[in-house]
Amino acid sequence: MNIILLGAPGAGKGTQASKIAEKYNLLHISTGDIFRANIKGGTPIGKVAKSYIDAGKLVPDEVTCDIVKDRLSKDDIQNGYMLDGFPRNVFQATELDKFAKIDLCVNIDVDLNLLQDRICGRRVCACGESYHVSTLNGATTCAKCGGELYQRADDNAETVKARLDTYQNQTAPLIEYYSKQGKLINIVCGTKTPNEVFELIAAELDKY
Ligand code: ADP
Ligand code: ZN
Repeated sequence: MNIILLGAPGAGKGTQASKIAEKYNLLHISTGDIFRANIKGGTPIGKVAKSYIDAGKLVPDEVTCDIVKDRLSKDDIQNGYMLDGFPRNVFQATELDKFAKIDLCVNIDVDLNLLQDRICGRRVCACGESYHVSTLNGATTCAKCGGELYQRADDNAETVKARLDTYQNQTAPLIEYYSKQGKLINIVCGTKTPNEVFELIAAELDKY
């Protein structure tokens, strides 16, 4: 099973991605994580990506599509994978259809008005866990692994506004793109907890 996880920044893609990858034994491929690793490592890709990410814009399609195409050419994808953060516009989706076979697209549908606060209050750990300041009670380390929590460089008010605009203009049209292909699973989150959202996703994936 090869799936796409779609949703606005802060919708909870990362949280659900870890749970889905674990339960269904899928390889988790996050373009955001790949870019951040490249920025940390000071690679040429990292240098290009940084200016776009800091501005809340999409990294150019050529760069992004090449990275994903390259990743999907490796042998370890045989048992299935989950793309998190890719595709992010219709061009990327059209390219992806040329080199991959996607079975389902899970859209995490959240109220966009909640996202500014969620993202600005987000604190993350290198292990992949994320938290919101409102529930940390002042803690500065990860409850799961003890690692030091930090704020992502692009999780500031100004960049978040640009990222939400980018989402609405470029990424949201993918909902229709996958709906037309008959592959869309829409998960309406409302006020549900992350575990409740996961239950809904799992119920759908189990049917497949
Ligand atoms: P979020 O979903 O919270 O915005 P991500 O980690 O998925 O976080 O992405 C962070 C940034 O990395 C994006 O704002 C964008 O600049 C860049 N990026 C990630 N995936 C893509 C992609 N498929 N195409 C272009 N840029 C991307
Ligand atoms: Zn941790």
